[in-house]
Amino acid sequence: MDQIPVIQDYTPPLARDGKFHVRLTEGRFQNWRRLSSWPMIALFFGLVWVQFDGQPWLLFSFEHHRINLFGSALSWHDLPLLAGLMIAGASLLFFLAVAWGRVWCGFACPQSIWTWLFIRIEQFTEGRANVRARQEGQSLRATRLLRRIAKHALWILLASATALTFTGYFVPIREILADAIQLEMSPALWGWLLIMAALTYANAGLVREKICLHACPYSRFQGVMFDRDTRTVSYDASRGEPRAQRRNAGADSGDCVDCGLCVQVCPTGIDIRDGLQAACIDCAACIDACDDVMDRLKRPKGLIRFASQAQLAGQRSRLLRPLLAGYGTVLLVAIGAVAWGFSDTTALLVEIRRDRGTLFTQLNEHTVCNSYRIKVESFAKDQSLIALSVHGPGDFTLFGPATIDLAESNSTWLPYRVCGRDIEPSRTQLQFSFEGQGAGASEQTTFLTRAR
Ligand code: SF4
Ligand code: SF4
Repeated sequence: MDQIPVIQDYTPPLARDGKFHVRLTEGRFQNWRRLSSWPMIALFFGLVWVQFDGQPWLLFSFEHHRINLFGSALSWHDLPLLAGLMIAGASLLFFLAVAWGRVWCGFACPQSIWTWLFIRIEQFTEGRANVRARQEGQSLRATRLLRRIAKHALWILLASATALTFTGYFVPIREILADAIQLEMSPALWGWLLIMAALTYANAGLVREKICLHACPYSRFQGVMFDRDTRTVSYDASRGEPRAQRRNAGADSGDCVDCGLCVQVCPTGIDIRDGLQAACIDCAACIDACDDVMDRLKRPKGLIRFASQAQLAGQRSRLLRPLLAGYGTVLLVAIGAVAWGFSDTTALLVEIRRDRGTLFTQLNEHTVCNSYRIKVESFAKDQSLIALSVHGPGDFTLFGPATIDLAESNSTWLPYRVCGRDIEPSRTQLQFSFEGQGAGASEQTTFLTRAR
């Protein structure tokens, strides 16, 4: 498909002082949006509070280099799995884009969902779009001032709750709240929360569609994913043109009565009747608005509808095509790789550090000892006892707990000493072996003696 044009020098209706006001509409696609967005909002705000065995159900802990993923724990070493998940998500996005355009943007993208929430708050506090547009630029009277203050207060509240919840996926939210109540939260965390809240407030309240138009890379590279068979929100010009307002309509007029509603409800302020544009996020608000007009005019719905270029030209749209099959294959391979990766995650993580103070201790003519600090971290459920042993080419004895108890905490550092008798080489490779219930690990380190 040719490059999808970007409409820039365009002033939408209901615009004053450089701001334009989006008119909210109702209809079946808005209901679909509610069905997709409300569960996502509920999951976002709810999951952060869910705990499993006293641990957050979903947590990416930078502090402990640990990921709690729906009841199982992953080590930082399993991070590539998350990269795999993101590749699978991106493939799904591309697959959807080839099949149905930017439906992700219109129905599930957090930027869109939060923008709709902020617009709803704006309508709740300051009235409908036409009222807001009319009042824009007029001096603020007491009631309007109060309404505006209420709007910004609610926006700030929602932005703050969003920032707190988002941060709660990286630092346990109960810890953040407890620290905040006891005034013990670090300045870095305060700063982070403030930045996140400010970004949410600016993105969804002030900048809105400009993110979709100018910052989102998706709008730029969608041109390479669309083809003649991609179903996207389209205006059926063959049916709508020549457009004419009802009072001017003649026998040869099309179905479009030029009411402008499809433009007033568009969150990016474009006119879909100008054709496919990079700014269109496929939210289908214009479909609902136009279907409502067609209903009232007793004309068939679907003047604006999800349709491919082929369908608009009266041809059949192909379902199976190389681009779609390609992204579908990448998606299946990515899902398979991630599923395989999850079956082989790290269950036991060990780390051995040599005591930096003394290289070795000569106990007597025959015996030399080395000291180590050993970290053991378990990522498997019901794995609390880890047996430890040491092996090497010679007579070595381990001093320290032979069994490590992780019942209290799943991670611990312990001091150990290994003594070797009559060890000749100045450097000998030692192997520490760790055995838990169904999981084991081994780690090599060096045993040092005086050169002979
Ligand atoms: S809502 Fe429908 S009838 Fe009204 S201007 Fe848009 S396309 Fe034409
Ligand atoms: S043109 Fe229609 S589908 Fe596209 S962004 Fe505007 S309202 Fe949404």
